[in-house]
Amino acid sequence: MFTIEARKMGYRVHTFSPDSDTPTGQVADIETQADYHDLLAVRTFAQSVDVVTFEFENVPAIAVEAAAEFIEVHPRGEILHTTQNRLREKTFLSSNGFPVTPFQRITDLEGLRGAVSELGYPCVLKTAGFGYDGKGQSKISNEDDIDPAFAGLNNAESVLEAFVPFEKEVSVVCAQDQAGNFVHYGVIENEHRNHILDVSFAPAAVSERVFAEAVDIARAIVDTLGYVGTLCVEFFLTTDERLLVNELAPRPHNSGHLTFDACITSQFEQQLRAVCGLPLGSVDLHRPAAMVNLLGDIWENGEPNWARSLTDPNVKLHIYGKLEPRKGRKMGHLTATAESAREAVRIALEARSRLNPLS
Ligand code: AMP
Repeated sequence: MFTIEARKMGYRVHTFSPDSDTPTGQVADIETQADYHDLLAVRTFAQSVDVVTFEFENVPAIAVEAAAEFIEVHPRGEILHTTQNRLREKTFLSSNGFPVTPFQRITDLEGLRGAVSELGYPCVLKTAGFGYDGKGQSKISNEDDIDPAFAGLNNAESVLEAFVPFEKEVSVVCAQDQAGNFVHYGVIENEHRNHILDVSFAPAAVSERVFAEAVDIARAIVDTLGYVGTLCVEFFLTTDERLLVNELAPRPHNSGHLTFDACITSQFEQQLRAVCGLPLGSVDLHRPAAMVNLLGDIWENGEPNWARSLTDPNVKLHIYGKLEPRKGRKMGHLTATAESAREAVRIALEARSRLNPLS
């Protein structure tokens, strides 16, 4: 989606990835397939472009540093380094006074036992690195869960978090340009299923106070990081209306995909504008909108019924071009716009249910 926006505005795109025929590579001018640790390939790539950005935060710091020897990289390598590891990210957030879920660093089983008795049941053990969509996470509800949860880590560095009995999950997608101008898409409400984002809609059903506080926190994080590009701040909203930052995504985020169809400027175009030194575009929402994810699971009964899904003209289909529809893998999404966010959610969910070729 970033590359589509870039090509629309006349930019040529060169993408670097360990895979070939990637969703970005299918749209880009040039696709380099190489390992992120192949620093010769990274340097050759960096010398062929005018600026580097990311759509994935788990690019090793060493590759980012190699690229930065030749060319501007946005967001900066240090920011990627901080946000690609839960422990570093949470430490950054809490030491700068941002509200986060209570957490403890875990290095061994004894430490885990101590942390569990401090944070209480239930709690969630998460690997510090390379975790997304609930991967590398286990909930600890009683003493019997401790040993299996620790064994599941395979000695990876990890974080234990108190389980937050949240009212809802929300996010703020925002962007900052190189001159320090800041824009945001307001508060987006998110529903997860099996730890994977399922539905997002905007505007979120939150009070004015929560809206203002979420945006203030996002702006302060961008400011503290000296961020250039699109950033997403994911929050838990607790039952007593407190916001806790769950995670930062230093890139366009799944909860902001609805901006592609619903806003004057999408989160991807903002990323492009920010990293290319252009002014940011309007974040105005044409109409309330909802996005539902399409996971590989929908291919279970054969090719989904695209035509029937699109019988409502307010529904837009996005398929990313990933080669294999695996269970739980994000393959695309549907967006619906309507008079209200609730109506948009209803339309999008109905469109998704019509995809099943057996129904
Ligand atoms: P994460 O990969 O940390 O964003 O976790 C994915 C999803 O799991 C979140 O969006 C929540 O729905 C759930 N989750 C993760 N951590 C917690 C927690 N500490 N308390 C409650 N739910 C959580």
